[in-house]
Amino acid sequence: MSTIIKDRKFKVYTARQMDNIPQIKSLPRDLRFAMKVVSRVLPFRANNYVMEELIDWNNIPDDPIFQLVFPQKDMLEGRAFDRMAELISQRADDDHIDQLARAIRAELNPHPAGQMDMNVARLDDDEIKGMQHKYRETVLFFPSQGQLCHSYCTFCFRWAQFVGDKKLKIASKESEKLFAYLRRHREVSDLLLTGGDPLVMKTSILRDYIETLTAPEFEHIRNIRIGTKALSFWPYRFLSGSGGDRLIALFERMIARGKHIALMAHFDHWREMDSPVCRAAIRRLKSAGVEIRCQAPLLRHINDSPEEWSRMWREQVRLGMVPYYMFIERNTGARNYFEVPLHRAWEIYRDAVRSVSGLARTVRGPSMSCGPGKIEIQGVSEIRGEKVFVLRFIQGRNPDWVQRPFFAEYNEDAYWLNHLKPAFGADKFFFEDEFNRFSSSVLRSGGRRG
Ligand SMILES: *Cc1c(COP(=O)(O)O)cnc(C)c1O
Repeated sequence: MSTIIKDRKFKVYTARQMDNIPQIKSLPRDLRFAMKVVSRVLPFRANNYVMEELIDWNNIPDDPIFQLVFPQKDMLEGRAFDRMAELISQRADDDHIDQLARAIRAELNPHPAGQMDMNVARLDDDEIKGMQHKYRETVLFFPSQGQLCHSYCTFCFRWAQFVGDKKLKIASKESEKLFAYLRRHREVSDLLLTGGDPLVMKTSILRDYIETLTAPEFEHIRNIRIGTKALSFWPYRFLSGSGGDRLIALFERMIARGKHIALMAHFDHWREMDSPVCRAAIRRLKSAGVEIRCQAPLLRHINDSPEEWSRMWREQVRLGMVPYYMFIERNTGARNYFEVPLHRAWEIYRDAVRSVSGLARTVRGPSMSCGPGKIEIQGVSEIRGEKVFVLRFIQGRNPDWVQRPFFAEYNEDAYWLNHLKPAFGADKFFFEDEFNRFSSSVLRSGGRRG
C-alpha cells in the first residue's frame, strides 16, 4: 500500500505575510485582526504543508491544528490585547509597537524553570553557550543553525527565542566545546539536540555536530536524540526531495557504528499522523533503524480529552512509534489559554492510559518540567482522611530524588508546582532545602539572570 508522494517546495509564512496566506484571506475580518495583534507579541511561522494538509478549514477557529499554529485573541490578557490592538488600529510606528510588545512579553515569564541560570554547562569555569546539563545522563545542545522551526506552535515554552530578542536566545555554534565537554563527562550517555528544531538544519551541518561522536573516545555517548516536530510540520524532510536521502544515510551510518538514534517526535494530536506524507516518513525512519518516541504537552483547545490522547497513543503504537511523555504545559507565554489544572490533567492521563493496551502504556506523565526536576502526578488519593496528590520525580536535579513518592495537599486550582503545598502539615517538600541552596549558590556565583 505504498502511496506515491509528490515532493513539495517549502514555502514559509511569517507574521508579516499572514494576510497573504490564501486560506486566511477568506476568514472573518475580526478574527484576522485579532491574529495580527497577537502575532506582534508571540511568534508566528507556518508553511504550505501545514496550510494545505493539516488544518481543517471547515472548522475554524476550533480546529486543533489551527489552534496549534495560529495566534488567538485570548492568548493575550485582555488589557494587553486592547493596548496592542489600539496601537495597530492607529497605525502606530514599528518602534512603538515593538516597545509595547517587549513590555507584554516581559510579563509572560519568558524563561521558566531557571533555564538561563541553573542548567548552564561549564568547561573550566567558562559557561558554554547553547548547552544545558541538568540531569546526569543527558546533555542538551542547541545548535545555532537550528533555532527555528518549520512552523511554530502557539504554546511553545521556548517562544522567547523566536521573537528576535538576542539576549534570550540559547544557541551555540561551537561543536568543539560540545565535544570537549562530552570527552570529559563520562557519566553522560545521551546527547539531545534541540532548538527550535535541529532538522531545519542542512544534513551537512547536523553531521558536523554528531558524526564525530562515533569515534572510540565517545563510546560513552550511546544515544543521540533529536527533538523535532518535522514529522508533523515538514515530513518531506525525511523523504527524497528535501535532503532526506542524506539525512537517512547519516542515521544509517551512525546506527551501523553502534549508536542509538532516537527521534523525539512532538505530536500534539492524532490528526498530525493522519497524512500520507507523515506516514511515509515514519516508515522510512523505521526501516533505517531509527527509534521514534513521542511526546507532547496537554493543552486546552488542542488535546484536552482522554479520547484524543488514547487515539493518538494507539495510532503511534500501530505506526511503530513509542509513546513517551505527556507534559503539563509550562508556566510561560500564553499559558492561561492552554493550561489544564493538575487534577484534571491526571484524570485525562488515567482515563486515556487505562483504555489502551500495555504497548501504549510506556507513556509517563502528566509531568511538570520545573526547577528541581520532572515531577509526575501519580494520582489523587486519600490518606487518613486527607485528600492528597501523590507525586514522584521522573528526573531530578539530584538523582537521589528520583522515584521517591511524596505528597501535596489536594488543590483544585493548582496548575503548577508553585501552587502546591506539602501535605500532612509539613512545612516543606523533602527536596526544598537542597534545591534552594542550589539556586542561591547559582545566583551568588554570578549565574546569568534571565
Ligand atoms: C526532559 C529533559 C531531559 C531528558 O529527560 P529523559 O527523562 O531522559 O527523557 C534532559 N534534560 C532536560 C533539561 C530535560 O528537561
